[in-house]
Amino acid sequence: MSWEITVQDATRFQELFGEQCQVNTPLGRYTSARVGGPAELFVTVTSGMELQTAVELAYACRINYFILGGGSNILVANNGIGGLVIMNKARAVNFRNIGAAVICTVESGMNLSSLARQCIAKGLGGLEWAIGVPGTVGGAVVGNSGAHGGDMHSILRAATIWEPGKGAVIYTADDMKYAYRDSILKREQGRNISRRVVLSAELQLTPESVEVLTARADGFTARRKETQPGGASMGSMFKNPENYYAGYLIEAAGLKGFQIGGASISEKHANFFISDGTATADDIRALIAEAWNTVREKFGIEMELEVELVGEWKFGE
Ligand SMILES: Cc1cc2nc3c(=O)[nH]c(=O)nc-3n(C[C@H](O)[C@H](O)[C@H](O)COP(=O)(O)OP(=O)(O)OC[C@H]3O[C@@H](n4cnc5c(N)ncnc54)[C@H](O)[C@@H]3O)c2cc1C
Repeated sequence: MSWEITVQDATRFQELFGEQCQVNTPLGRYTSARVGGPAELFVTVTSGMELQTAVELAYACRINYFILGGGSNILVANNGIGGLVIMNKARAVNFRNIGAAVICTVESGMNLSSLARQCIAKGLGGLEWAIGVPGTVGGAVVGNSGAHGGDMHSILRAATIWEPGKGAVIYTADDMKYAYRDSILKREQGRNISRRVVLSAELQLTPESVEVLTARADGFTARRKETQPGGASMGSMFKNPENYYAGYLIEAAGLKGFQIGGASISEKHANFFISDGTATADDIRALIAEAWNTVREKFGIEMELEVELVGEWKFGE
């Protein structure tokens, strides 16, 4: 499938979204790795309605589209992303009581860590693990983000998902077919199809004392600081293979500190690949290949990427 943008298509987006629509927008500034080329067409949406409108128009115009959340789990090619990139800033949140539980309905562009802080301040437990996890609720619903024993699967009650050709459909947590850093939507990555889009999520929270929740979150933050490096990265590059830690395997393969161009494997945690501010997407991609190949040669284990490579990679890269 290769759906290209015509001048008429771009004009339709510009008429509808005005200044929220730009062409040839550099994406590095919108990603946590701070690398990547431009989006051919770039639209910023600020509500769930706008998100749905943008994706429906792209689908109707037969334009390739990509949803950009916090950009903290993707590596964008130096050549950028062809088609439309929709930057999701739909952030409405509301809370309602259902019996002893509280349901938080949140649009998918809400920052996950900020939401976790709001919940703690309201005395609502369930999302403390997400303090310090960058990115949006939508990215977390897709990737089943998690930390410190918690994850999206354990708190998601339902998600409203836009399906190509169908519109908005409600998915339960079971429908999401969650597994470790995986879901039915994550499995669409890398496929040449129009992908489903998370519009909003309903999270089930439990009232708890603010002091207890704060102490728990502070413990998680301290642990994160102790074990993870700062700097521009995408978090964990590879998923942990069964019975192993990817970071341990990369370290045992002798690659801690290994550097290509401006990208290096962190001395603190070998599953974090850090840019020194000059790295290109190609540097990071080469580092990924080096780590994958060396671990395979030394231990016979084929690691799976947690980060998604997006955009126009040159053949053979
Ligand atoms: C320093 C650091 C620490 C991290 N720590 C953790 C951690 O502890 N645990 C963890 O799980 N992850 C961690 N991550 C990874 C990352 O934060 C999560 O994967 C996060 O949930 C990604 O969300 P995002 O909005 O940034 O997604 P993006 O990177 O913007 O997108 C990721 C994928 O999701 C898709 N997507 C995003 N929003 C939507 C939507 N609304 N509908 C459909 N598809 C969508 C995108 O198209 C893309 O395919 C870390 C990353 C960094 C940089």
